[in-house]
Amino acid sequence: MVTVIVRSVSDEAIQTCFFAPGLLRFARNDEFLAVTAKQGNESAMTFDLDIKNTVRTIPDYPKPGILFRDITTLLADARAFRRAVDELVHPWAGSKIDKVAGIEARGFILGGAVAHQLSAGFVPIRKKGKLPHKTVSMSYALEYGTDEMEMHVDAVQPGERVILVDDLIATGGTAEGAVKLLRQIGATVVAACFIIDLPDLGGAAKLRALDVPVRALIAFEGH
Ligand code: AMP
Repeated sequence: MVTVIVRSVSDEAIQTCFFAPGLLRFARNDEFLAVTAKQGNESAMTFDLDIKNTVRTIPDYPKPGILFRDITTLLADARAFRRAVDELVHPWAGSKIDKVAGIEARGFILGGAVAHQLSAGFVPIRKKGKLPHKTVSMSYALEYGTDEMEMHVDAVQPGERVILVDDLIATGGTAEGAVKLLRQIGATVVAACFIIDLPDLGGAAKLRALDVPVRALIAFEGH
């Protein structure tokens, strides 16, 4: 049993504590208070800057003109990783979520942590040919051409409530394909969550047009 002594936290934090004990399972008291400070008093701007500062930007990768937003530096920073995952799941603490679907490959890392936090199952959405059992597939738009993603046909039961997770949404082609794939096997896509949105590329708007609420923690202008 875990005993948590909470001093001077908001009602919101107490709810989080009650509904999602996983949030506290490994948290020292000072970390928990840091998270609640964000929920209560800390300005959104400070949080935004803190998270942004842990993302490494690599110009001209994988090709000239692209600013690659590298989240491996965020993942390697224990505090930033914890805060990012806590923030991603915050709206659903206390809601029934059956599965978290993560998009290969960085969506697996974040999606696994999010699923653990929500006490939900995890479902991988993978590139074609990687999954061993019977699959359903969906083609999706890349900058030049199309590709295919797959998931196991029995990974989600009809009517199950699913949150989709990836590190970044740009044009939205990948996430749109994943939403369609999940809906194809009868999932209810409750929301799509990302650390980073590139709003100028219109991906989040594309998902919202499909009636999928989008949560992104930070945004970068341009592409
Ligand atoms: P899109 O389908 O255009 O929304 O692209 C999203 C996918 O491509 C995600 O899985 C991202 O990891 C990856 N991606 C696209 N643009 C970037 C970028 N500038 N930096 C890092 N990853 C990116």
